[in-house]
Amino acid sequence: MVNLLQFDRDALGDWCEQQGEQPFRATQLFRWIHQRGARDFAAMTDLAKSFREKLVAGAEVAGLAVASEQVAEDGTIKWLFDVGGGDAVETVFIPEAGRGTLCISSQAGCAVNCRFCATGHQGFSRNLTTAEIVAQLWHAEFELRRRLALGEGERAITNVVMMGMGEPLQNYAALVPALKVMLDDHGYGLSRRRVTVSTSGVVPMIDRLRDDCPVALAVSLHAPDDALRDELVPLNRKYPIAELLAAARGYLSRAPRDFITIEYCMLDNVNDSPTQARALLALLRGDGSAANPGLPSKVNLIPFNPFAASGLERSPAERVAAFAKVLQDGGIVTTIRKTRGDDIAAACGQLAGEVQDRTRVAERRAHAAAVRVAAPASRRRGAVAVERGHRA
Ligand code: SAH
Ligand code: SF4
Repeated sequence: MVNLLQFDRDALGDWCEQQGEQPFRATQLFRWIHQRGARDFAAMTDLAKSFREKLVAGAEVAGLAVASEQVAEDGTIKWLFDVGGGDAVETVFIPEAGRGTLCISSQAGCAVNCRFCATGHQGFSRNLTTAEIVAQLWHAEFELRRRLALGEGERAITNVVMMGMGEPLQNYAALVPALKVMLDDHGYGLSRRRVTVSTSGVVPMIDRLRDDCPVALAVSLHAPDDALRDELVPLNRKYPIAELLAAARGYLSRAPRDFITIEYCMLDNVNDSPTQARALLALLRGDGSAANPGLPSKVNLIPFNPFAASGLERSPAERVAAFAKVLQDGGIVTTIRKTRGDDIAAACGQLAGEVQDRTRVAERRAHAAAVRVAAPASRRRGAVAVERGHRA
């Protein structure tokens, strides 16, 4: 059985041709699946009977198994989907006035292993397939349409952010067809500016995304200098800040907006000082020189959402506000992200699902922490606080 959720419209056209059908049949089929949420081929009455029979025999629209669903006080909904093999991933719906945002996972776990992220702490099991990425949207959209009793053509989900579990740009081959389904006018019809890929900084894939499918881009920076970013986002050792910002600048040539969103998780006494705010401002504003050209950006400060065993704490609100003010006074549009759904652990960085850690990253982290704790050194505050986290 082939799961039709794995195809963007071009690929569905190829598959239909292989079945001896005209490619335009693919558009009809695609619309049934992604605009009406249909999975029963017999009901697709505008398709020829012979084609429907072929579909029944060889294809399916296979959604994900819902392991649980939780609704937060603020209306945020979190689904846990069982993706087999002991892995489960989470998807979060965030309702706001006039819009509905779906936060989608791209991997079971994550190999980047950021210090402040519950997903990273779990290690990595596997990439999700295109079908598993699309199925999160398919399930949420049509489930919500039923529940909210939306009329034909009304949308429950107006925005998608690839900010759930996983690093989307480390699952590039599955990501791009999924994005195409989201953008397709015969699919979910979301504009490129309403679909955001958030990345911890996989530089070569930022360049490829610009060429293949330039949706809105968010870069998870979290530190104004390489020494601290190396500690918080280990991928920085491979792609340091200067290279990351250069890739982000390059992305702007085809981005749907004229800025890049910079995400910055506010960690108490780690990355939240006024000096660090000024360093971030200098980095983003640049000085007009070739060495320091800056980056047209908006900054989104995310108050850290604690999870068990992180050992880190959220910056106090005054400190976040002071940090924001430095950036705003410097001319950078800065917002503070509202925490949503934290009573059901659905806030940024709290998604953990269930992951079989095949990289043994948790074990390696414990080892690395033990080595670091043993090493006597006077370190800057940030590094010390991070390491204290590991010991906790
Ligand atoms: N892997 C991608 C996308 C998923 S994470 C990335 O890192 O960008 C989405 C956002 O949530 C990122 O900016 C991430 O840094 C942030 N985040 C992770 N853990 C967090 C936590 N505990 N509290 C607040 N934000 C967190
Ligand atoms: Fe992975 Fe993003 Fe979490 Fe870092 S913040 S571990 S890249 S999911």
